[in-house]
Amino acid sequence: MSIQLFDLTGKTALVTGSSRGLGRAFAEGLAAAGAEVILNGINEQRLTTAAREMSEAGHRVQTAAFDVTDDDAVKEAFSRFDEDGVEIDIVVNNAGIQFRKPMLELETADWQRVLDTNLTSAFVVGREAARRMVERGQGKIINIGSLTSELARATVAPYTVAKGGVKMLTKAMAAEWGGLGIQANAIGPGYMLTDMNEALTSNPEFDAWVKGRTPAGRWGKPEELIGTVVYLASQASDYINGQIIYADGGMISVL
Ligand code: NDP
Repeated sequence: MSIQLFDLTGKTALVTGSSRGLGRAFAEGLAAAGAEVILNGINEQRLTTAAREMSEAGHRVQTAAFDVTDDDAVKEAFSRFDEDGVEIDIVVNNAGIQFRKPMLELETADWQRVLDTNLTSAFVVGREAARRMVERGQGKIINIGSLTSELARATVAPYTVAKGGVKMLTKAMAAEWGGLGIQANAIGPGYMLTDMNEALTSNPEFDAWVKGRTPAGRWGKPEELIGTVVYLASQASDYINGQIIYADGGMISVL
C-alpha cells in the first residue's frame, strides 16, 4: 500500500464547527494531509484566531462563518463558494452542542435546538455539498456521531436521538449518493477532552467513571481522531460507504 493513498493535495475540505475542539483537530489533520481547509463556526473572533494559527503553521486555510442550523445561511455560504470558484471535495459535519437535562424537565425548544444543531445541520450542509459533488462525480462526507449513536445515557436524550440519527443519515446518504461517486461515513468519538466536556472532566466522579469504563483507561485527545478523518476523506476509503467508526478507546465494546 502506498502512502499516496492518504494524500489530500488539491482537495478542499469544509469542516463545520472547526474553530476549536474536535473540528479544529479534523481541520489540522486534513490540512496536514495536503487539503485546503475552510473553517466554520459562529464566533467570528475564535474563527479568525484559529485560521491565523493554522496559517502560521503553514496550512492553506479560509474561514466561512455561518450558523449550520440556518438553512438560508448554509445556502448563501455555498452560493459564495460557487461565486468564488471554490469546489468542496470533503465535508466534515462536526458542529454540535450538548444540553444536559432530564427529559421530564426538558422543553420542546431545547429538544429541537439540539436536533437542529447535531442532526438536521448534517443533512442541510451535506445536501448542499452533495448537490455540487454529484456534478463532479466524487466527494467525501464525514458525519460526526458519538457513542450515543449506539448507547443511551440519562439526561442527554435529544443528543442521543440526534447522534443515532447521524448514524442512519450516514447510511441514507450512502444509499442515495453511493452510485453518484460520493462516500458518506461517520466517526463516533468516545469521551474526548474538549470544551464540550469541561464540566464533566472537572467532576471527579464522572472523570473516574470515564477512566474506569474505558478500556484505554483515559479520556481521548482530539488529535487521536485525525487518522480516522484523513482515512475517510482519502481515496484509501473509496469502497467504504455508510459506516460509522467508533474511536472511543474501546468503550463501546465492553460492558
Ligand atoms: P466544542 O463545544 O468544543 O466545539 C463545538 C464547535 O461547534 C465550535 O467550533 C462551535 O463554534 C461549533 N458550533 C456549535 N454550534 C454551531 C452552529 N450552530 N453553527 C456553526 N458552528 C457551531 O465541541 P467538540 O469539539 O467536543 O464536539 C465536536 C463534535 O463532536 C460535536 O458534534 C460533538 O457532538 C461530537 N462529539 C464530541 C465528543 C466529545 O467527547 N467532545 C464525543 C462524541 C462526539 P463556536 O466556536 O462559534 O461556538
